[in-house]
Amino acid sequence: MTLAPGHFVLAASSSSLIGFLIAFLVAFFAALWLSMIIWTWRDIRSRTQDVILQVFGTVLTAVFPGIGILIYLILRPRQTLADLYERQLEEESLLAEMTERQTCPTCHYRVEGDFQVCPSCATKLRRACPRCDRLLELKWNVCPYCGYGASDGAGRAGVRQGARAAER
Ligand SMILES: [Zn+2]
Ligand SMILES: [Zn+2]
Repeated sequence: MTLAPGHFVLAASSSSLIGFLIAFLVAFFAALWLSMIIWTWRDIRSRTQDVILQVFGTVLTAVFPGIGILIYLILRPRQTLADLYERQLEEESLLAEMTERQTCPTCHYRVEGDFQVCPSCATKLRRACPRCDRLLELKWNVCPYCGYGASDGAGRAGVRQGARAAER
């Protein structure tokens, strides 16, 4: 008689333990599923600004729990927007460095910004303004420092246009 209540308590506690375990597992997987959806949403938003792709990635994870996130991981854009931005900055600074470090167009010898001719092959790099003596790029028609050749440059452009019109 002393054992019976004990058995009863044990049976009741074991069935409630199973119920508790099932509830725990359900809650665990629901939380896992939800966190996967939230993670995907955050991840896709850091990788693309395309709303359709953002929704598609998140829905994929939501509809196929577990497998959806695997497919998403395979298909997601490889770079985040922050990575892209950083790389763009790097490329820009590299470009700035390259234009800063000038080389001779003929022999690629390193030249300074104030050289008139290449010290290696004597290619003409710049010319001095006849009026203010500042260095001008060879392509420039007008001195940007003193305005020398402003009317002359416009005239030359006009001559070029006239020549093109004559060719037609
Ligand atoms: Zn040179
Ligand atoms: Zn000048």
